[in-house]
Amino acid sequence: MSDWAPQLHDIYDVVNRRNPGEPEFQQAVREVFDSLSPVVAKHPEYVDVLTRMCEPERQIIFRVPWTDANGDVQINRGFRVEFNSALGPYKGGLRFHPSVNLSIVKFLGFEQIFKNSLTGLPIGGGKGGSDFDPKGLSDLEIMRFCQSFMTELYRHIGEYTDVPAGDIGVGGREIGYLFGQYKRITNRYESGVLTGKGVSWGGSLVRPEATGYGAVFFVDEMLKSKGDTFEGKKVLVSGSGNVATYAIEKIHQLGGTVIGCSDSSGYVIDDKGIDLEILKEVKEVRRARLSEYVALRGNGTKVGTEGSLWQVPADIALPCATQNELDENDAKALVANGCIIVGEGANMPTTPEAIKVLQAAGVGYAPGKAANAGGVATSALEMQQNASRDSWSFEYAEGRLNAIMRDIHRNCLETADEYGDPGNYVTGANIAGFVKVADAMNSLGVI
Ligand code: GLU
Repeated sequence: MSDWAPQLHDIYDVVNRRNPGEPEFQQAVREVFDSLSPVVAKHPEYVDVLTRMCEPERQIIFRVPWTDANGDVQINRGFRVEFNSALGPYKGGLRFHPSVNLSIVKFLGFEQIFKNSLTGLPIGGGKGGSDFDPKGLSDLEIMRFCQSFMTELYRHIGEYTDVPAGDIGVGGREIGYLFGQYKRITNRYESGVLTGKGVSWGGSLVRPEATGYGAVFFVDEMLKSKGDTFEGKKVLVSGSGNVATYAIEKIHQLGGTVIGCSDSSGYVIDDKGIDLEILKEVKEVRRARLSEYVALRGNGTKVGTEGSLWQVPADIALPCATQNELDENDAKALVANGCIIVGEGANMPTTPEAIKVLQAAGVGYAPGKAANAGGVATSALEMQQNASRDSWSFEYAEGRLNAIMRDIHRNCLETADEYGDPGNYVTGANIAGFVKVADAMNSLGVI
């Protein structure tokens, strides 16, 4: 922060004053500002734009009443932050998790602006969700909650306005209930209003796999730029949800071995490589804890008991769980154990202190807004298919995703070079993402 251009300090003071008690949002803003000094020096016309960019265009907070299985009325809080629509309709996921509050939604929405810009596709940035905890609830309770959530949200969204999708706690099942309620209230089969739909009702092949596959494609590009490959590499992937599952699948296809993954109850080590069928059975079918993976897989697999997953020696680490899950001590352990790349499948999983440790040690570090952009990029491809009433083959959709991730990687490196910080993916992603949105905002008048 100390070497920021003075204009950035002035803008940040305003952000700080306007958003008290929002540490995650402030962290996300600081992280972007850390890269922008050379940009505001070169383009003073961006200063006003940046000031506006830090204030969401619209923030919606609403009550979500629903009835649980005992007939008791429950209340949750719903959010949708429509952050920036300079490049296209607001686009970003919905997160259902007890930790969700305005600060979390704003940090995610802010990141989404730059991530979506990096995809090169016409999508603005937004995010939403609820402090609802789906854990342990029945299908019927989940459906009732989703219907109540959409009963308010529907009036704020639309294929040309705001297009939500999934995030933590929101997968195909929830998108189905949300879409069903939207269709029922509006009497419109408006496929492009939500993404992450089932393939038989307007979804895109590869969308479930896209965030995980995309993160691995990005890391693969990082390896290739150093003349290396995934072949024979030991990899740690935190999480065991949608992003982690498909990251593991693609790493195995590319010849790497994922030796550990995790959930909120702990982590498992499996030197032979995580068995994806068993992982899916435990997490997707049984919706159980990872200890069941060990019980089913047997021999040689163990539940981690010491420290975190990041203390286990490996060549590559992909944090795919949640924000601030990889701290300074974890980063030091990764460095000491010879890790060469950290690629973020989750949003802001690495703390600022940990990023410093990794970069100082020369570990290749890919920020989430670049590395995990494959999910939202494929959502935009789903919107394209919906707009043309078409559906693409798996191979074609995967090829498009791969090309987008390669473009983002190249754009990051070229931008980092242009602004005098070669090889720094943070600089490249933040500046390339920002400049495109800033130019659009400047062209559209004072918006
Ligand atoms: N939640 C995902 C993200 O963080 C995907 C959003 C989307 O597909 O709209 O980018």
